[in-house]
Amino acid sequence: MEEVVGLAKRRGFIYPGSEIYGGYRGFWDYGPLGVELKNNIKRRWWRDMVELREDVVGIDAAIIMNPKVWEVSGHLSAFTDPLVECQACHRRFRADHEEELAEHAKTHDGGVQWTKPKNFNLMTEVLLGATEPKEKAYLRGEITQGAFVNFQNIVDSTRVKIPFGIAQIGKAFRNEITPGNFIFRSREFEQMELEFFIREDKEESRRVFGYWKEERMKWYTGLGINEKNLRFRDHEESERAHYAKAATDIEYNSPFGWREFEGIHDRSDWDLSRHGLIYRDPDGRDEYTPWVIETSGGVDRATLFFLLEAYRKEDKRVVLKLHPALSPYKVAVFPLLANKPDLVTKARKVFDRIRPLFHATLDERGNIGKRYFAQDEIGTPFCVTIDFDTLKDGSVTVRDRDTTEQERVSVDNLAEYLQNKLA
Ligand code: ATP
Repeated sequence: MEEVVGLAKRRGFIYPGSEIYGGYRGFWDYGPLGVELKNNIKRRWWRDMVELREDVVGIDAAIIMNPKVWEVSGHLSAFTDPLVECQACHRRFRADHEEELAEHAKTHDGGVQWTKPKNFNLMTEVLLGATEPKEKAYLRGEITQGAFVNFQNIVDSTRVKIPFGIAQIGKAFRNEITPGNFIFRSREFEQMELEFFIREDKEESRRVFGYWKEERMKWYTGLGINEKNLRFRDHEESERAHYAKAATDIEYNSPFGWREFEGIHDRSDWDLSRHGLIYRDPDGRDEYTPWVIETSGGVDRATLFFLLEAYRKEDKRVVLKLHPALSPYKVAVFPLLANKPDLVTKARKVFDRIRPLFHATLDERGNIGKRYFAQDEIGTPFCVTIDFDTLKDGSVTVRDRDTTEQERVSVDNLAEYLQNKLA
């Protein structure tokens, strides 16, 4: 884990938020490579969950909503975590995080006394308006509600019919009691969520719940996470969120234990009925309140787990074996020697030719071996080297990140060659 955190900082994936002022607990900034990785995860999710499906539409709702939304959805009263305080040093912890409590107990001779657990609300307050007292509103604690409050708008303005889904990606904020484990638990994070609306029917709900569980698991294995490092974990009734009838987490085998990074929830009619929304079946069935199956993934937790899964130390190199769809750069282009103007000019020409097609980088520093290592470490699947033969016969060397094997390819066929390899 420390090595991945170190790499993330050193190579420009993720930095501590506001670092020059000592950082700010629970906030992180994505650097030039991190934003590419995170965008690639989101893009792929959007492609698979919206673009390649006929039964899902997307939205992008506001982060701050009418505070009434949170009152009605139950978040102001029930979006809480249990909090306990150490009576010796007054540090506060989540009562349900037993490992953290045990760790803390070791720091005091003779153990610790904890206060009784109390419910701590996670919603982040903001103050708005130009007159005093300012109006209290909230940064959304989950992006979900945006899909529900727009349910009627979407039914009226598109041709969707139940069963259908509303997909959204966006920032959420939680005043977490103990942010930690790098970007795993922060106070500002991003979610990628699908709210899938179905008939009010137990059988249908069980079937759709099972369908989305499998789909979401396949999505992660399809992007390179070994199935041995993934598992489902059903929630006990006592740990379910206030809106959930059933809940299963997809967990990853992380260096700090099996941890959730996506939840599949049966929200039944909780939200729509609270908001007083109903569905009129255009095919003549009665009006009813649809039920909802939700898939709620964390973009930052996925970013962390994709990084951890991809990180390998081999003989002499560190390599990020990211799925090519997620790699920040797909291709790196080098002139064999940085001090030969003909090679440098030709390398730039090849670079200019492929960069509209693939996110590419041009690297002219150091020697070729160092450049390979530098690209391996950030997960670039292919390196293209322009050498003296290129000037004669128009061919280049393409080196594969995973096998380190090299092939000669003509510049004219390079785009097609890479396209096939990256597909
Ligand atoms: P936890 O039990 O770890 O606090 P949760 O069960 O409250 O998580 P959900 O409300 O189901 O989480 O949120 C759905 C997803 O949003 C999570 O699976 C996770 O990927 C992401 N998420 C939730 N809280 C955070 C956070 N504080 N930092 C980063 N991602 C988060």
